[in-house]
Amino acid sequence: MTWRLLTLIFFLFAGAVVGAVLGVEFNRWAVNDLQTLSSVALGGLVGGLLWFALDSWRLFAYLDWLKSGSLEPPALNAGLWGEIADRTRRRLRNLQTGLRESDQRLDDFLGAIQASPTGVILLDKEGRIEWFNQMSAQHFGLDIQRDLQQFFVNLARDPEVSRYFHVADFTGDIVVMGRASTPTRPVRLSVQVYPYGRGRQLLLSRDVTAVEQAEAMRRDFVANVSHEIRTPLTVMAGFIETMQSLPLSQTEQSRYLDLMGQQADRMQSLVNDLLVLSKLEGSPMPSPYAWCSLEDLLKKVKQDATVLSEHLAGLTGSAHQLAFAPAPAVSVAGSMTEMLSALTNLTHNAVRYTPAGARVDLCAQLLADGRLTIAVSDSGMGIAPEHLPRLTERFYRVDRSRSRETGGTGLGLAIVKHVMQRHGGELRIESQLGKGSCFTLVFPANRVQAIQA
Ligand code: ADP
Repeated sequence: MTWRLLTLIFFLFAGAVVGAVLGVEFNRWAVNDLQTLSSVALGGLVGGLLWFALDSWRLFAYLDWLKSGSLEPPALNAGLWGEIADRTRRRLRNLQTGLRESDQRLDDFLGAIQASPTGVILLDKEGRIEWFNQMSAQHFGLDIQRDLQQFFVNLARDPEVSRYFHVADFTGDIVVMGRASTPTRPVRLSVQVYPYGRGRQLLLSRDVTAVEQAEAMRRDFVANVSHEIRTPLTVMAGFIETMQSLPLSQTEQSRYLDLMGQQADRMQSLVNDLLVLSKLEGSPMPSPYAWCSLEDLLKKVKQDATVLSEHLAGLTGSAHQLAFAPAPAVSVAGSMTEMLSALTNLTHNAVRYTPAGARVDLCAQLLADGRLTIAVSDSGMGIAPEHLPRLTERFYRVDRSRSRETGGTGLGLAIVKHVMQRHGGELRIESQLGKGSCFTLVFPANRVQAIQA
């Protein structure tokens, strides 16, 4: 401001001096005070006008610069307009930096929503799509080029969605079929709308297929367990009632007690297998550094299979031929208890589903790629191909009555599969109806190591 005042005074003064000099020069013939004074005043006025013109030029230069939107300031280095231009430029720079930062934040935010496993769609007041992320595009088959500004209800083409938007009660979600759904692989989506802002809507979609399947499996499992326990309990209750109400002979009583004992054993086996399964699900993965000798493992398996075979021989008259080939000198990393449980389940099945006196083979082999296979094969009844994919399901039985007669729980192969998964291996099943079956455990190379002699 001082600078502005000083320049104005300078222009007025310079104009007055020039006026005085010119007045004296041109009015030499009329040298009086009044004429001199008017020359000075005129000079001052011209100086003032010149200052005003210069100042207006600087003002217009500033306005032009503002209109251009450029950040490079005009040549208004000094004075008030220079100061204003400088401050405006600094303010614009700050605003631009702030804008860039909030753009970046918006990009980050949208990137995070894009990466979300939840489908997100923003709808305007009329229900038209304003924005959506990749997951929702996958869920509803949306296309960014084609579907923006389209009515979501029309694109979803699902009566359940139309009803949901029509009723407009968004307190809960609805479950609809996803666009990628096929009859063999259904995809179920949970969809919920959350109103926000002025009449806008946020639509979230989640793939709940796995959750629904797990829930269905849990329900089936509880129903199966209850059924499996109820059956022997009903039988036992019947025997107890009979023993209480009828005058039975000593022989009859001991026969009934034997039968009750069998049912109690059946329940015990079931509870034991359930405990094994729940332990497998709840315990940490088997260590990859706890090495167990294969020879020791197979020795225990053979002892156990012999006991079972002799027990069955007591009932049927002839024991099975158990042929265990010599094991390669290797150790397997993992849980001895779990591996023993898997192998005894396989040998028990081989014995139980093979006629008395028939042959059961166990053969362990170290493959060229370092993997170890342990195959339990029998020459028993075999399994029809349509049952093979479902054998490892809990409580799935091909021959229900034979399974029960021989104390089966329907959980054995589920346990074997679980154990192998926990050891990074797999269970392979080959079988031919009427000819026999072969169940092979395959351990990965990183869990097998040769024993140094
Ligand atoms: P279970 O306790 O009933 O034997 P598993 O899960 O061990 O249950 O086996 C599932 C079903 O697979 C059995 O019920 C049986 O029908 C069939 N199975 C298993 N092993 C054999 C085998 N070695 N030979 C014939 N069928 C078998």
